[in-house]
This record gives sequence, C-alpha cells and structure tokens, in this order.
Amino acid sequence: MENYLNILNEKISDADMILVGIGEDFGCTEKQIFEKERYCNIFSKISASGEWMLPYAYSQIMRKGIEKQAYLNLAGLIKDKNYFIVSLRTDDVIYGEEYAFDKERIVTPCGGGRKLQCDNNCEDKIFDIPDEIKEKIDIILQEDEKEILNVSIEPLRCPNCGSNLVFNRIDAKKYCEAGYLFMWDKYTKWLQGTLNRKICILELGVGMKYPSVVRWPFEKIAFFNNKAYFFRIHKKLYHLTEELGEKGCAVAQNPIDFLINSFE
Ligand SMILES: [Zn+2]
Repeated sequence: MENYLNILNEKISDADMILVGIGEDFGCTEKQIFEKERYCNIFSKISASGEWMLPYAYSQIMRKGIEKQAYLNLAGLIKDKNYFIVSLRTDDVIYGEEYAFDKERIVTPCGGGRKLQCDNNCEDKIFDIPDEIKEKIDIILQEDEKEILNVSIEPLRCPNCGSNLVFNRIDAKKYCEAGYLFMWDKYTKWLQGTLNRKICILELGVGMKYPSVVRWPFEKIAFFNNKAYFFRIHKKLYHLTEELGEKGCAVAQNPIDFLINSFE
C-alpha cells in the first residue's frame, strides 16, 4: 500500500493554501451515539428532562470520543498553513480548544449544539445558551447511570414570538442560516484568493448528503485550478472524477482511521 501520509505531508508542505472539507461520515450521527449501549441511559435521562437538549448532549459526548485523536493529528498537519475548514458535522468537536484550530477559519453550515434559534425563526436571529442551562445538562450527563434525575428543563422562549428556542441546527423546523453566514462570507472571500495559488484540498468523509456544499464545489475548485491537488478520503465514496484523476489521490479508508493509524 502506498504511504498516503507521506504524499499528503508533501502536498501540504508544498501548498500555499489548504482547503479542508469534513463530511457527515466523519464520526457517528446523533442517532448512532444514543443507540450505543453506554449512552442509552443518558438518552433516557435527557429525553425525560427535555428532549430539546439532545443536540447539546450529543456534542458534549462526541467531544470525548475517538475522533479527538484524528482532530489532533489533522491540526498538526495544517496548523502552520493558510487553511480554511468547511465541516458538515453538527457535533462541534472541531471547536474544541485542545486542537487550537483558528475559529476564524472554520465554517459549519449545518449548525450544531452551540447556539439557539427560535423554532419559527421569526427574526432570523441566534441566541447564546445560558450557562445555567449548560450546567444543568452537564449534571445530567455526569450523573451515575442508575440514577434518573427528576429534573425537567423547559425550553427557553423566543423573546419576540414566544415560541420555543431550539438548537441552531440544519434539522430545525426552519433553520436559521444567520448562524453561519458570516463565516461563509469569510470562506468565499478566502476562496477568491486561491486563484493561481497552489492549493491542497483535503476531503474527509464527505458523502452525498449535501454534495452541493462541499463535494461538488471542491471538485470544481480543483478542476479550474491548475496547481490544485485533491486528497479524497472516504470508506466508500472515495472515487475522484475522471478529470481529476491526475490531480489527486483517492484513499478508500475511514478518514478517522486514516488520521489515527497513519501517524502511529
Ligand atoms: Zn420567535
């Protein structure tokens, strides 16, 4: 087997700019997490106290998962470069302080468990999660497995229309895009600067759930840039289009395993 990490290292150190796409297949979904035996109890407790809190609980659990090492290794690869990361994940793991990614270089267009919005999105506004709510959820997450806390955490209300506040995530009834558009704007400006520059594109676990956000535009960028190199890592959907064949490398692996095992 070729040593893809060597190629990747070489392409990254040679590039002026690094574009990273993290896809929906880079780690477990919320459903997969709560189906795991060890989190079943947490799921029951959170559901009993207020199901609306699940997105926050999901990101708190994911932050302790095996993905951590993959993110650390990714950070090590790109930290000194001019990079931008587009992540389709809603687990917020990438925002962990321990990786020291520059938050001004990350956009997460599917949202996550960091902010709230009105269920009706009446004013296209996002809200911070009050610390007291975070603390309450953290207590539920820490409690002894057997103990079911008899607490109920009611959703907060929208100050404008009185509807419930929900997490600012793409699966909200009326998703508030204001939560990410500011960073998306920065991203598109950054992209304009890639013209005629050596760009290394690293796509990790990007499937076909939202192909128009990462997968297709990344292919287009690589196609039109003569100095681009495209690294696509996905367990199943790893193929590069014919036009990009010479300009890239397709790795048929789970990207988390790749980022962890290649460094051992
Ligand atoms: Zn409202």
